[in-house]
Formats: sequence, structure tokens, C-alpha cells
Amino acid sequence: MSKRGSFTEFGLIEKIKKSAVSRPDVVCGIGDDTAVLDYSASKYLLMTTDMMAEGVHFTKRIEPRSIGHKALACNISDIAAMGGIPTHAVVSIALPPKTSARFVKDVYAGINALARRFKVSVVGGDTISSRQFVINITLLGEVEKKNLVLRSGARDGDWIFVTGSLGRSWKSDRHVSFTPRVEEARFLVSRYKPSAMIDISDGLAGDLGHILKQSRVGGVLVADQIPLNPKANVENALCDGEDFELAFTLSDAQSRKLVDWQLKSGRWFFYPIGVITRSKDLKLMTADGRITKISSKGYSHF
Ligand code: ADP
Ligand code: MG
Repeated sequence: MSKRGSFTEFGLIEKIKKSAVSRPDVVCGIGDDTAVLDYSASKYLLMTTDMMAEGVHFTKRIEPRSIGHKALACNISDIAAMGGIPTHAVVSIALPPKTSARFVKDVYAGINALARRFKVSVVGGDTISSRQFVINITLLGEVEKKNLVLRSGARDGDWIFVTGSLGRSWKSDRHVSFTPRVEEARFLVSRYKPSAMIDISDGLAGDLGHILKQSRVGGVLVADQIPLNPKANVENALCDGEDFELAFTLSDAQSRKLVDWQLKSGRWFFYPIGVITRSKDLKLMTADGRITKISSKGYSHF
């Protein structure tokens, strides 16, 4: 996960992808939220990793417990984006020479509190010394084959949903305290058939952009429908990133059923924010009826 995705970063990953050796059990390698590996008759194994460095993904001001929380939570979020459940983790830490035992203990308190909630076992890791504090977690998960959701399945006419409010995650410290949306994703995949899903780490425009590109479609977002965090505007939702909500697409018929169910139950978890189109751009419709193209870097015309 990048704090901010850039074309250079994605260009680099494309090159790494082209040079990767592929085994026959790799169902999906580089390019989705997790790798998908053939595992058993009914399930896939999911595998993902995220690295975080002081000064990039958190500042000195952030509590060590919250650093541990974030390091595991962003991995769990990637497993959720595939429709799966997390299972086992290995944790590696690079520690500057003067790091206190208390600091490390508190980072692990954050990891373990979240690990307990999501029944994740920490089964190993590595410890090295370095100039800067870095933490890397690799997480395994599993998903029933029928419930796997990739980035590549969105179709013309599908609705676009998000699981919660977006924007200003860094200003509010939500980026270190969020709950990964496993429960919501499991509800979805057990009752509906989302056609594509991704977690929003780099901003709605960029991450939805991955779904559009990999599904070879476009989309129109309705500005008024995008749920916003306090003080956030639509540009924050499109560009800020680190919201760790899920964005997903669902057929027209199933979307109507999902919205109906939410209206009847009075429980509102999934916010429809737009539709998938055949033309390959991402566009934004504002209240005055104007439709503007959004670049994958975000929307900067406010
Ligand atoms: P996410 O934000 O969901 O964590 P990223 O944007 O970090 O995803 O990565 C996109 C894809 O590229 C993922 O499939 C990831 O595993 C892969 N990837 C990222 N960095 C590397 C790397 N250095 N080598 C191989 N694959 C990578
Ligand atoms: Mg992701």
C-alpha cells in the first residue's frame, strides 16, 4: 500500500509483474488487493503484505498501540476486499537502536487487540535494527471459491457502492483507528454477488480507477451521494486516501434488492454513489447537473 499511489509506482509494479515466475496454483498474482492461491476443493488461500514507515504512514505523535493497530488493520482490509476472512500473520519490525521495550510492547498490544477481534494468529516474524522504525505484516486469509471478488468483474450498468464515509482520514486520525470492513464484506458475499471490490487506501478516484481499468469499463459518480466524513468535501473523498472503506460494484437487480433490504431493516451500511458505464472514463456529476472527467490522480477543479 502506498500512502499515495503514483504512476511511477504502478509502472514499477507492472514491470515486476511481467518478470514474475508463475506457478499453476497462482489464481491471481500481482495486481489485486491480495494474491489468490489454489488451496482446497472449496477454498482459496489469500496472501497480502503491507509495510509502514515512520514519517510516511504515521508520525511520531501517533501512539505505538495505534501503529500496531494500523499495521494489521490495513492488511485485514485487503483480505476483506477479496470477500475473505483473515487467519495467520507474520510481523517484521525494524527498530532504531534506542527503541524502548515499552514501545515494542505497546505496538504489539495494538496488533494483538485487533488480532483477537478478527481471530488472527501471529505465527512468526523478524526483528532487525535500522535507522528508522518500519513495520511489515504479511497476512494470510481464506475465502470460499464462490465468494471470491476480484477487481476485474465490474460491468456496464452495475451500481457503485462504498461502505462508509470518506475524506480527511489523516486529519481525524481515522487512518490509525479504523475497523476493517470484514463483517460488511462477508455479509455482502454471502447474500449478494458483488462483481468487483477494492479497499480505498489511495483515495476513491485512484482505487475505483483500478476497478475500472481492470474491468475495462468507466463510471459516473454522483457527488451528492458520496458519504463524507465531518469537514471533508468531495475532493477529499476522491483524493485523500487511507479511508479503508470498501468500494464495490453490484448488478442493477441486486443493487435494488440491497437498497430495499437496507430501507426495510433501517440498517444502512452500503451507500450507492454511482454507476458503471461503457465509456472508459471516471466522471463526476455535480448538483448543477454538470459532468466532469476525473483523472485517476483525483479531482482538482474545486
Ligand atoms: P494495496 O493498496 O491494495 O495494498 P498496492 O497498491 O500496494 O495494493 O499494490 C498493488 C499490487 O501490486 C498488489 O497486488 C501488490 O501485491 C503488488 N505489489 C506492490 N508492491 C510490490 C512489489 N514490490 N513486488 C511485487 N508486487 C508488488
Ligand atoms: Mg487494497
